[in-house]
Amino acid sequence: MTHVPENHPRYLSLKYREIIAEGVRRGITAIEGMTAHGRGETFDYILGEKTHDFAFEAERAAVALMLLSRHPVISVNGNTAALVPKEIIELSEVLSAVLEVNIFHFSEERVRNIKEYIESFGGKILADLDAELKGLTSARRMVSSKGILIADTVMVPLEDGDRCEILKTNGKKTITIDLNPLSRTSRMADITIVDNIIRAIPNMIKIAEELKDYPKKELEEILARYDNKKILNRSIIAIRDYLTEKATEVMS
Ligand code: ATP
Repeated sequence: MTHVPENHPRYLSLKYREIIAEGVRRGITAIEGMTAHGRGETFDYILGEKTHDFAFEAERAAVALMLLSRHPVISVNGNTAALVPKEIIELSEVLSAVLEVNIFHFSEERVRNIKEYIESFGGKILADLDAELKGLTSARRMVSSKGILIADTVMVPLEDGDRCEILKTNGKKTITIDLNPLSRTSRMADITIVDNIIRAIPNMIKIAEELKDYPKKELEEILARYDNKKILNRSIIAIRDYLTEKATEVMS
């Protein structure tokens, strides 16, 4: 992996680019995952590269929903595995959620590589692909009979809109992490976390440690107060305000 000096003004961004490139070299991340990462970076840039209050609210609601679920599953693709392998394991453990490999650009080898990569950090992850979701003919219908097939809630970070739609038509609640509030996934999910996954997952671990002892009623109240349309609205306005501020700044 290319060494990125820590004093570089864009250190974090360059570091995570290197991690994604290394994911491709290891056969974990699809080559298309690099363009998806680039799109994410762009939205992060125009959101000021920080967790906004609306993202924090969505992260809290997502944790509440996962804790209330009977069988919560976190779907892991090549970008998620490369960017936050340890953190996703830790989150699944605090939430008692199942991890399952589920990828858009399908290859058996990549499924195996992701599974082995997560296991190398001590995590347990399903990758059976022994069951089918209804309403699909492509390889993407294949899921695990112990995971997504029987899940009531699925967290699908960094995904495309189709997957989210299929999960919904199969009766599952969906949570996504997507820096683009305009994407089909963002519009489709029950809870949309407009934040970088590298910040969102550590935030959710802290929130889960706090909420895991809350009574069911309080978790239900967090969800009852939550309105995903308002969250999307606030995130788009945050981008507008950030750009307005920058437009003023360049004139000074
Ligand atoms: P849709 O089908 O939902 O309209 P899309 O075709 O853009 O979306 P993909 O190309 O699969 O879907 O991209 C996945 C999404 O993940 C993109 O919207 C991108 O902004 C987002 N993304 C990429 N990297 C990150 C990251 N590190 N954190 C959060 N979101 C990210």
